[in-house]
This record gives sequence, structure tokens and C-alpha cells, in this order.
Amino acid sequence: METVKAYGASSATSDLEMMHIDRRDLTGNDVQIDILYCGVCHSDIHTARSEWGPASYPVVPGHEIVGKVIATGPGVTAFKEGDLVGVGCMVDSCRECSACREGLEQYCENGAVMTYGGKDKHLGGHTFGGYSQNIVVDEAFVVRVPENLDIARVAPLLCAGITTWSPLRHWNVKKGDKVGVIGLGGLGHMGIKLAHALGAYVVMITRSMDKAEDAKALGADEVLLSTDEKAMQKHANSFDFLMNTIPVGHDLNPYISLMKRDTTMAIVGAIEPLKSVHGGMLVSKRKNIAGSMIGGIEETQEMLDFCGEHNILPDVEMIDIQNINEAWERVVRADVKYRFVIDMKSLQ
Ligand code: NAP
Ligand code: ZN
Ligand code: ZN
Repeated sequence: METVKAYGASSATSDLEMMHIDRRDLTGNDVQIDILYCGVCHSDIHTARSEWGPASYPVVPGHEIVGKVIATGPGVTAFKEGDLVGVGCMVDSCRECSACREGLEQYCENGAVMTYGGKDKHLGGHTFGGYSQNIVVDEAFVVRVPENLDIARVAPLLCAGITTWSPLRHWNVKKGDKVGVIGLGGLGHMGIKLAHALGAYVVMITRSMDKAEDAKALGADEVLLSTDEKAMQKHANSFDFLMNTIPVGHDLNPYISLMKRDTTMAIVGAIEPLKSVHGGMLVSKRKNIAGSMIGGIEETQEMLDFCGEHNILPDVEMIDIQNINEAWERVVRADVKYRFVIDMKSLQ
């Protein structure tokens, strides 16, 4: 066992502070990764503040991890020392249920082991995430980072990237489709980039008109202000697909109005009760409201390879770990352009 430095929260109301956590010794298929960069996801905040139900403390967040392999267990075949790799939201699953067998580990029927706050079957207690010096992960849950990508910007692909990629693929978004991405934060900005790269006509749907120029630079063809009723009406019944990244429960009806017959709005943001949905609006045009959670490991590798081929990277603001509490406040205020990444050198 190795003790490493980390940043974590010891209660729902405390700031993150430096602490020490244990990493297990390498067993057969384990890979030890020196963490170079870790992205900051809004889920880190929801979890640490027990907004999704009581968390197990301390919470050491971080599920957008990139780093270098520094050691491998005797059974490891896919990776070697020095490889650039990533770890996302999961570090294990049962690998036997129908979901796991289909490469949908995130929907594991026995519960995937999340990167932080999951049940740690090796050391007992719960898992600790990437706001730390290093991590030990089974190779089956490690992905390869394409060499051509700027490593300092890759981390957010491991959650924001795959969470937006998976629904675009699942609902078969293709060239020419009119896609609306709702909420321009970490997920939203990746949603724009990926939908644009798939050839869609992308409309950024935001409350913040001051983000309009940025949205276009990110690849949006149009910006729609969700608070402008007239503009919303002009787009009624016109979208082929909506991706909703709003992080809290909200009124879905204005967005449902935007959808064409037989199309889907995938909820990826609000993992909590949503406000009223008018059944008539779904019934009258056979509209679907669905949910989507991250993506499987194979699909995560597919997304990384796609980003490698098209040189797609998030727009990041680099911070030192010592500034994490301030960064979290900015995420909550929707004041992030468009993902914070922690330079983990600052923890050494
Ligand atoms: P984020 O950076 O905070 O972005 C969310 C964006 O939503 C904001 O920038 C803002 O955009 C908009 N927004 C915020 N509050 C709003 C409100 N009250 N009403 C309407 N719009 C609002 O968050 P993120 O990291 O992208 O994550 C988004 C959500 O997805 C979080 O809840 C996170 O936990 C969840 N998540 C889910 C999965 C999954 O697997 N499904 C994976 C990762 C994250 P505008 O200023 O443009 O309006
Ligand atoms: Zn996340
Ligand atoms: Zn399973």
C-alpha cells in the first residue's frame, strides 16, 4: 500500500483541503498511473456537497484523469510503463451481466464501481478519485490517449467528452441533423464540438447571451437564447435531437416544444427530479424524453480516437490544486470557459 497526497472534502459543507489517502499494491491486471491532469466536473461538486444523497467522506473527487503509467501488474498486457492513459468515471464493474457483456459497463446491473465514492473491493471503504497524485486501476478500465493530442487538454474528454459522445452516437446523430445543445458549460461545449464534427447543424441553447460568440467559435451554427420566447417559438418543432446538460431540475416544456415529431431529448445534466412535463406535448407528436449516463469503456476509446483523428480538444482553464475551492464556486455560477483542469504538478 502507498500513501499519496490528495485533495478532498471531509463533510458536505467543508472546503476541499489537502489530505492523505492509500492506494493499493498492484495485483495481476492493475496499472498504476501518475496523474498529470485532472478535469473538474460539476458532478464532483454535486457529490462532495451530498446534493445527490449522502456521500461517504472524505470525498476525493476527480473522474477526468490523464497520466502516465508508472507501474504494471504481472498480468497486464495492454499497457506498459510510460504510456499516456486516461481513466474516466468508472474503475470496475461486474463484467458478467448483460450490460457489461455489451460494453455498457456504466449500466452494469450489479452496479459499476465509480472512480470516487464507489465501493472499494480491494481496500474496503470507498474509492478515491483523481484529485490525487496517483491511482491504481484495472487495465480493463484504462483507455489510451492518442499521442497527437495536447495532453494538458485531454482530461475533460474522459467525462464531458464521453457523456456527450454517447448520446450523439446512440441516437444516431448524422450529417445535416439539427441538434440543440442546452447549457454551455463543460458538457455543453463538448456537445457542440462533437455534434459539429459529426456534421450536424448545431444550435447552442443558453441563458447567457454573453457566451454567444464563444458558442460560434466552438462550432455552433446558431445561438438560441432560452429566455427569449419569440426566438424559442421560431424554432418550435424543428430539432432532430436535443442534448440537455442543465445541472438542476427545471421546466422541460419550453425545450419539448422545440422538438420535431418522433425525436428525442436526452437528459444528461439533471440527475434529480425534473419539474412538470406536459404529457400532451409528448403524446401529440410522439416525442421522447430519455436519459444517458457517461459511456462504456470501448465507446470511450472510440471517442478518444475520434478526437485524435479530428484534433478535437476541450477549451480549458488550467488551475493549481490550491485554487480548487474558488474554481468550484465559479462552476456553480456557470462562469467557466469551459472546463477547469487541475495541473497535478501543483500537488507534488
Ligand atoms: P457546468 O459546467 O456547470 O454546465 C452546466 C451549464 O448549464 C451552465 O454552464 C449553464 O449554461 C447551464 N445552467 C446552469 N444552471 C442552470 C439553471 N439553473 N437553469 C438553466 N441552465 C443552467 O456543468 P457540467 O460539468 O457541464 O455538468 C452538467 C451536469 O451534467 C451536471 O449536473 C453534472 O453532474 C452532470 N453530468 C452527468 C453525466 C452523465 O453521465 N449523465 C456526466 C457528467 C456530468 P448557460 O450559461 O449556457 O445557460
Ligand atoms: Zn463528470
Ligand atoms: Zn455488470
